[in-house]
Amino acid sequence: MDCPNCGVYNPEERDICWRCDQTLPKPKEPKKKSDPQSAMRRMWIIIGIVLVIWILLTWLLPNLNLPGL
Ligand SMILES: [Zn+2]
Repeated sequence: MDCPNCGVYNPEERDICWRCDQTLPKPKEPKKKSDPQSAMRRMWIIIGIVLVIWILLTWLLPNLNLPGL
């Protein structure tokens, strides 16, 4: 973490700059690596969309009376 006031490097665990006593902003929490629950939810959303499209197609196609079919 570089001090926003004087730009000197400070270790991550420090709250105050060792050089100018400026309060350092807290380091951002590391983002969680691929949350399995959200991945599962996304998968189910995709499955749901595919199902809706499939149901619509199977329902629509016999009712379309397209020439040549
Ligand atoms: Zn500083």
